[in-house]
Amino acid sequence: MVQTYWPKRLRYGLGLAGLIFLANFFLLFLLPDRASKTLWMNLGFPLWSFLAVLSLAYATWRTQQRARGHAVAWALLALAQMMSLAGNLNGLTITLDYPLPTIIHYSFYLCFYPLMLSGLLLLPTRAITRTNSWKTALDIAIVLLSAALVLWSYWLGPLIVRHGGEGSIAQFIVLTAPVGDLVLIWAIFLRFYRQSNEQNALALSFLLLAIGTAIISDFNFGYQFVLGQYISGSWLDLGWVLSSLCFGLAGIAQTIPMQSGNGSHAWVMNAVGLTQAGQLRAGVQAWLGYLPYGWVIAVYLMLAQVSSRDDQLEDSWLMLAAGLISGLVLLRQMITLHENNQLLAQVQQQTNELHNEVQERKKAEAQLAHDALHDALTGLPNRVLFTDRLRQAIAMAARHQGRRFAVLFLDLDHFKVVNDSLGHAMGDQLLIALAERLQLCLRSGDTVARLGGDEFVFLIEDTRFKQDATALAAQILVALQQPFTLQGQLFFVTASIGVVVDAERYEQPNDILRDADIAMYQAKSQGKARWVLFSAMMREQAQTRLALESDLRYALERQELELHYQPIVALQSDRITGFEALLRWRHPVRGMIAPSEFIPIAEEIGLMLSIGHWVLEEACQQLRAWHRQFPQQPPLTMSVNISGLQFADPGFVEQIIETLTTADLDPATLRLELTESVWLNSTPAAITLFQQLNKMGIQLHIDDFGTGYSSLAYLQYFPIRMLKIDRTFLNKMSEDNNNQDLVRAVIAMAHDLGMETVAEGVETVDQLNQLKQFGCNYGQGYLLSRPIDRVSIEQLLDKIQLEQAHTAHNGLPEALPIPMQRLHQQPPLVSVAGA
Ligand code: C2E
Ligand code: MG
Ligand code: MG
Repeated sequence: MVQTYWPKRLRYGLGLAGLIFLANFFLLFLLPDRASKTLWMNLGFPLWSFLAVLSLAYATWRTQQRARGHAVAWALLALAQMMSLAGNLNGLTITLDYPLPTIIHYSFYLCFYPLMLSGLLLLPTRAITRTNSWKTALDIAIVLLSAALVLWSYWLGPLIVRHGGEGSIAQFIVLTAPVGDLVLIWAIFLRFYRQSNEQNALALSFLLLAIGTAIISDFNFGYQFVLGQYISGSWLDLGWVLSSLCFGLAGIAQTIPMQSGNGSHAWVMNAVGLTQAGQLRAGVQAWLGYLPYGWVIAVYLMLAQVSSRDDQLEDSWLMLAAGLISGLVLLRQMITLHENNQLLAQVQQQTNELHNEVQERKKAEAQLAHDALHDALTGLPNRVLFTDRLRQAIAMAARHQGRRFAVLFLDLDHFKVVNDSLGHAMGDQLLIALAERLQLCLRSGDTVARLGGDEFVFLIEDTRFKQDATALAAQILVALQQPFTLQGQLFFVTASIGVVVDAERYEQPNDILRDADIAMYQAKSQGKARWVLFSAMMREQAQTRLALESDLRYALERQELELHYQPIVALQSDRITGFEALLRWRHPVRGMIAPSEFIPIAEEIGLMLSIGHWVLEEACQQLRAWHRQFPQQPPLTMSVNISGLQFADPGFVEQIIETLTTADLDPATLRLELTESVWLNSTPAAITLFQQLNKMGIQLHIDDFGTGYSSLAYLQYFPIRMLKIDRTFLNKMSEDNNNQDLVRAVIAMAHDLGMETVAEGVETVDQLNQLKQFGCNYGQGYLLSRPIDRVSIEQLLDKIQLEQAHTAHNGLPEALPIPMQRLHQQPPLVSVAGA
């Protein structure tokens, strides 16, 4: 239940008004004679008018506080009421036996109308359309004309015809009053038609009631006045009392604050509920629209009645007026029709627009749904859709025994190179062309999706044998052998594919994708451009690698990395000339880990720069220490392996200079080893870097020569001092004579280009002898010494020094007992130079 709340002010106002009215009502009946009735009325009128003036003045003051502009209207209403009060005082002057001249008396009443009218017209209104204002004007004209006609026909017309003719001012004025009232009614209707949210309806209703009751009394008064029958103090005077009271109540209603923006008071909303209040107002306004027709009906009834009675009135005038009213109604009807047509067109247009909007929205929604499930570049299904299909496939396989499916994971080889060298636009073109070609490889019912980047996945449904899937993988690789033509250029690409068969055994789509990805990585590490079938062992390897990856992040700070050193021996003199620093990881659980196992990981996860820096510092400091401990001429050298990433680092030269300075090391004893690929991929910036290092006296060596492109052509462009022949070359050497020739040719060519040579991985005496025969400058290998730690190296050097001193002392021949033999059970081969 909504709590009904009537504002106190209104309750008191209504109570007081009720009391006054009842008092007047009963007094008119109770007072014994006409004279006392007249006296009471003449005394009462000014008082009620005065109360109304007070209330309207108060309303003016309150309105002024809320909306300054609207206060003028209420001031005018108060002024009008004041004129009425002045007029009413006449009753008092009569009672006091000083009656005012009639003209003065009535001029107060006459002033009432223009003031009242201006006040009403100044009340706030709502802006309405032109057609609506025409309709309103017509409605009001119809109402006024009809009302005037009815009143004229039944009251004043017959009256004047019968009794008029004298034409006194008083008579004129008395008859003007109802006309003035009619005009006021018109103004009030106008306010109701165009009621603004700023104007409260209750105050307006009281004003309407006030003028409505005044009109009845004015007509009665006019009627009786013309007949000369008017006597003050009759019950008809109650109309005026009521009118004054209603003016007062309008003032009170105006002072009560409204519910913001809807023309109704909060208490009205409370009383009838918010929606009901709105419905009520809408209903009233709708019925107001029918009002003109009601009047027209009244006029026609009247015409029927008038034509049946014998009247002195000119029927033609009545007919004319009725015709005029009908004409106005017709005009209004035409305007309404026009308006309806316009509205209809508008509705039609809006419906069309709405229809189009709905269509567009539907299209956009469909597009959105498509975009959410497809890759924007290739139009293939994306990860979301693919995962969903995988889930469906798993569910189907669970329901139907024997139903099998497979998943392929494809990744382009070297796609990054395409993107980096040819630009992303070209990379995109390639991916689009690739997607088209991949689709051609599929059977209907299978799915190919793009996971992102250069990764594509295939769902092969209903595979009977695992060969179905591997055959497709092979077929895809064959399809990729055809070059792609992009902007007139030919592109060759290869891909690595991981295959998971028996995918129906999985429960989660992501697990299948993970394993296919692992197999794909396996294909990459096996040399790319191939497919690999997933096996459980691969997962273990992948997991191990993952664990290694996380451990490696802490290896440096936990001081788990260390350097081992492998002697490099001059083959002509059998003397140790220097060492190669080789990195080791002493893992707390797994033990010693070889660099080939963790350096690729370090490069991948961005640790290589800091590790490389550490190696360089450690190796340089160690060499400086050995220079002090084991001085010889020329001094011992240190070869340090440098990753391509270190060379690409802009701070590399500064790092080298700083390291050499800190260690106080002669740059000529430092050698940097770079693999062939680093040289081949070197940019102009890298070439400047090589020159800089060369100028500093640091030697640059090619490592693992013979494993990569093995092209000698590029060697002449770089300041390379030494070529390290890879172990695989030496191994092949023992197989046949051709390979021996090859090694000999490489050594000869290197010498021709001004380079020295080191043979890596010397394991047999045969190899050693052959290398010596070919004129190879240096040797490094297990035969000579394995890579050993700092302490072992120092023991070795100590021993050599000691035995050398002993030999010199005894004057024994060159052949020396080599400590290596004892260290590594290898033939005595090495002697220390210098000393
Ligand atoms: P590398 O620079 O070619 O080093 C020679 C490798 O051959 C070493 O393997 C060495 O132990 C091995 N080796 C030497 N003599 C023989 C032999 O007679 N028989 C056989 N089978 N192997 C022999 P290691 O120490 O496992 O190093 C492997 C590779 O790791 C190195 O190849 C080098 O490329 C890289 N590496 C090692 N340390 C570092 C480092 O500090 N920085 C960088 N960037 N790479 C390093
Ligand atoms: Mg090396
Ligand atoms: Mg090597």
